[in-house]
Amino acid sequence: MYSDPISVAAAEAQALTLDARDPLAGMRDEFLIPRHSDGSEQAYFCGNSLGLQPRATRQALADELDDWQNLAVEAHFRGKHPWMPYHELVREDLAAVVGAKPHEVVAMNSLTVNLHLMMVSFYRPTAQRHAILIERSAFPSDHHAVASQIRFHGFDPASALIQLDGDANGVIAEDTILRALDEHGERIALVLLPGVQYLSGQAFDLAAITQAAHAKGCQVGFDLAHAAGNLDLRLHDIGCDFAAWCSYKYLNAGPGAIAGCFVHERHARADELPRFAGWWGHDPATRFLMRPQFLPAFGADGWQLSNPPIFALAPLRVSLAQFRRAGMAVLRAKSVALTAYFERLIHAHVPDVLDVLTPADPAQRGCQLSLRVKGAREAGRSLYDHLHAHGIVVDWREPDVIRAAPTPLYNRHIDCLRFVRAVRDWAAAR
Ligand SMILES: *Cc1c(COP(=O)(O)O)cnc(C)c1O
Repeated sequence: MYSDPISVAAAEAQALTLDARDPLAGMRDEFLIPRHSDGSEQAYFCGNSLGLQPRATRQALADELDDWQNLAVEAHFRGKHPWMPYHELVREDLAAVVGAKPHEVVAMNSLTVNLHLMMVSFYRPTAQRHAILIERSAFPSDHHAVASQIRFHGFDPASALIQLDGDANGVIAEDTILRALDEHGERIALVLLPGVQYLSGQAFDLAAITQAAHAKGCQVGFDLAHAAGNLDLRLHDIGCDFAAWCSYKYLNAGPGAIAGCFVHERHARADELPRFAGWWGHDPATRFLMRPQFLPAFGADGWQLSNPPIFALAPLRVSLAQFRRAGMAVLRAKSVALTAYFERLIHAHVPDVLDVLTPADPAQRGCQLSLRVKGAREAGRSLYDHLHAHGIVVDWREPDVIRAAPTPLYNRHIDCLRFVRAVRDWAAAR
């Protein structure tokens, strides 16, 4: 509770004014906001982990069940959204979200699967050049994926995995990356870094990394799990060789949603690249001639394996249409302002309780702030429990980080104020 009741009223009035002026305020109504046990809406800050359900998703799934029921196999060609070309329904919107050309993106599989498929083509180690550059605190799945790829090719991760270290907040200086490329560039086959680091919330300069890595002859891929739908990306211009992301975080396509993949257009006709092939990656013009020869489809489509899961694509189609209506530039502008407001509240009202680990520069972060409670790890866990008990949903990452992501599609300024007030209550009661 604020000690000064006037400041509470003033802060609340300001938050409500900012929410009333929000050009995207109406988007929140398109989502189902989970309720706290007292019946009020949660302040949901976990869009970086599992985005909320758009209201339209249920009907979109029901439509596909209806088509299956009524048309069965015929639904591949007719029905509300014919299944045969279904993955093409998401292509334009998916490309817009990540700043790619439509033929550079495809929705398929899951994130880790796509990282492996991309590495089959873009991690081509030789005796002289077989290292992979990643961060030491990379998401475990990325670690497992690169280490297993290195072993698959007969090399040893102990020497072939070059890992970047961050500072005490987990932030990796751009200089650290450039120095690693300078020092080891000739033996690095692949640079695989995140767009936004999942733990620290740091966003990287993807264009600068790509340019420096290409200058050393390395291939470059990005894991955009925490960047897709969060940053206003320009993948085509950035020029990386590939990127992969999941769609259940900021993209709100539901638990385990179908993932996304980007292959730069310079590889669109690289039919000689090794790849793990399947019939859905075959040129659609001759796919159904059912011949054994494989002719890759043009662009990212050529990496598909199987015919796509319609029940997974339907929620993604709904979600991407929302992103189209909002526009990534407008979303990002709100996001920058909302996160700055959130940070200002933390610095103004609970500076002796929370450290912000995420860089303050908006160009070096998305919407997420990673927070550490000053004092023992137990304090962090206790605050986390207090927030949840009051309907404020954040997440906890071992050993001592609370992540809170005000997402611009459905979070409000008043949610941020509710968070800060709860932190003050908790600190006052200790
Ligand atoms: C969320 C996340 C994953 C999850 O991988 P899945 O294959 O979708 O289970 C992987 N890597 C990073 C960096 C993530 O943030």
